[in-house]
Amino acid sequence: MPLTVAADLQALVDRVAEEMAGQTDRGKVADYIPGLARVDPKHFGIAITTHDGKMYSAGDAEMNFSIQSISKVFALTIALGKVGDALWKRVGREPSGNAFNSIVQLEAEHGIPRNPFINAGAIVISDVVLAGHEPREAIGEILRFMREVAGDDGITIDDEVARGEAETGFRNTALANYMRAFGNIEHPVEQVLGVYFHQCALAMNCKQLAKAGRYLMLEGQHPETGFNVVSPMRARRINALMMLCGHYDGSGEFAFRVGIPGKSGVGGGILCVVPGIASIAVWSPGLNDRGNSTLGSLALERIAVATGWSVFNQREPG
Ligand code: GLU
Repeated sequence: MPLTVAADLQALVDRVAEEMAGQTDRGKVADYIPGLARVDPKHFGIAITTHDGKMYSAGDAEMNFSIQSISKVFALTIALGKVGDALWKRVGREPSGNAFNSIVQLEAEHGIPRNPFINAGAIVISDVVLAGHEPREAIGEILRFMREVAGDDGITIDDEVARGEAETGFRNTALANYMRAFGNIEHPVEQVLGVYFHQCALAMNCKQLAKAGRYLMLEGQHPETGFNVVSPMRARRINALMMLCGHYDGSGEFAFRVGIPGKSGVGGGILCVVPGIASIAVWSPGLNDRGNSTLGSLALERIAVATGWSVFNQREPG
């Protein structure tokens, strides 16, 4: 049964953080840019915020990390707000079964990426967010959105990480150019990628990220303002996409082991949404061979087992 006693959840995150501290297989930290390569693999943080507004955290829950691909969830939310379901003409919603930065499906599928969470899909989303803006304004819009949903004006973008992304983003540049050739990118590629690289470079901690996920737990509603960030239907669909496509080509394994909609990033963060119950952020920078946080995935598996929060459990929330 889902835990109802506050003390249980705090005891649980404390226990999981302690168990993670003793793990020797921590995976490998992403090393394609210095801003990520220098992060100490020893870190582990977790924060859970529940539907009643409580926060439970342990470990390095207040230490900033690069949210990377987790930003794709929020950029998708913004893009849907701009163009609505017309977005699905330009991006699919099927798992790709390929690596996050793969180009192979794009040719056969005429420049329409499989889903919004592989890089090609996220780059199309950046193109949508950019419409009617200068790149700087679009980046500002994403940052303001993150601050708004997290209820925290302290969130920033790490410029060094954004620069590193741009300096090494040969594959992303190829993806964007390729899709532009198919007519699925409307703005100059450098501008679109400028937006994409900056959103990837958002620096947040677990507490902020868990709070940012609240609207997806609460059927689209912002708990502080009471306004809907998205409709209940849209929140449900974003959660569905996270379940099916949120962990690159390790999404099936994550659903199998954890069973909670989640989105990971190569910075080692994972945001998980338990609809109606909790928003969870974990961070540990070492990655497994699919590019997902090794300890983050393990910690979430233990949380899911202890709480019964897998969405594949058919029990009434307590
Ligand atoms: N900025 C990274 C890239 O586009 C994102 C990687 C990720 O977190 O999946 O290569």
